[in-house]
Amino acid sequence: MPDDPTAGGTSGGLPTATVILKPKRARPFYGRHPWVLDSAIDRVEGAPATGAVVDLATHDGHFVARGLWNPASRIRVRLYAFEAATPLDEACFRGRLAAAVGLRTHLGLDDRAGAARLVNSEGDDLSGLIVDRYGDFLAVQVTAAALVPRLESLCAALDELVRPRGILLRGAERGLAKLEGLHLPDRLVRGAAPAGPVFVAEQGLKFGVDLTEGQKTGWYLDQRDNRFAAARHARGRRVLDAFSYSGGFAVACAVAGGARSVLAVDSSAKATALAKANAELNGAANVVVETADAFEKLDALAAAGERFGMVVLDPPKFARSRASLDDALRAYHRVNRVAVGLLDPGGILVTCSCSGSVSRDDFLEMLAGVAQRSRRSIQVLECRGAGPDHPVSASCLEGEYLKCVIARVA
Ligand code: SAH
Repeated sequence: MPDDPTAGGTSGGLPTATVILKPKRARPFYGRHPWVLDSAIDRVEGAPATGAVVDLATHDGHFVARGLWNPASRIRVRLYAFEAATPLDEACFRGRLAAAVGLRTHLGLDDRAGAARLVNSEGDDLSGLIVDRYGDFLAVQVTAAALVPRLESLCAALDELVRPRGILLRGAERGLAKLEGLHLPDRLVRGAAPAGPVFVAEQGLKFGVDLTEGQKTGWYLDQRDNRFAAARHARGRRVLDAFSYSGGFAVACAVAGGARSVLAVDSSAKATALAKANAELNGAANVVVETADAFEKLDALAAAGERFGMVVLDPPKFARSRASLDDALRAYHRVNRVAVGLLDPGGILVTCSCSGSVSRDDFLEMLAGVAQRSRRSIQVLECRGAGPDHPVSASCLEGEYLKCVIARVA
């Protein structure tokens, strides 16, 4: 078989080119930050193809790190090793996957009836790779074009490590795919595809996950622990789950939390169909699911003088970038203000943001603004993030995106 230089074949994971940084630009990479932007690069010695192994060097030629080249992305090089002795070969990537899978075993998230994120990109030193396990199936998302030539060998390693019934490739979020120049249609990579939804257990409840057409890789795994943290406050309350997707918060509040009733709202008909099925699956007869624009629905409920004991807000990403931060914060302010207005005195607000460019401080400051404008005290009870199967690299805090604040509103 001819060696494929883009897969590190001929080079055995050793560099085929050297990327020279501009003067005084090496510091983040000594700090193990994995993204080398085109703006930091002075020149390239050699002619690397997409996915080729390259060394990163200072202006005066000292080794800094080793990574993979993508000429189509602003992130020209993604770094995977910071020692010159580490080749980026199959064994290296297999080792990273084994460590990632081992971490989930350590976390007690290896129950085959459940679901867990097995690989969280930079958080597992595998920039651009997401792997979620749903029962006996894996859903893989590649967000780095440089990993595409390695997809088969990564999946072979996952097969060996996890022994799933099937491995499905799911396309990256459209915006991300465009930034990377990625064109990867969804497909079955190994084994068999599930015949229908895959049923996974989450803290004693059961949820059907659509691995082929669902949002993200099928389920918002990052909210797993938050759904149950929220449910702890639901007993006897009337709950509104706005932006409910397939009903994770709604069902957790109704069944595990003992809510009096739950209204779940999402604009996607596919999502609400799943939410209804999930409510039924768990015998939650007091969950009403509605397909509607949640912003309009919140306004309509407020105009009608409706009140709730608890409101969950988990809207889609408002800020795509730092540039849209102010607009995003205004949008968060607006929707949270309406939600606060719907709460009985002493009601619980569970408010989330998955915009990475909105910091925890920004988000809490937004809530302070809501408290001021609505003349209600907001007591923050818990300030949560994604679960531990979504580790964040201390060297790449861009990986920390999810905020979930549980607050009591006087
Ligand atoms: N809370 C969910 C995840 C929500 S993700 C869980 O735990 O699984 C955000 C959801 O907002 C998506 O399901 C998306 O379909 C929905 N959405 C996006 N825009 C919307 C709008 N204008 N009105 C209602 N839902 C919307």
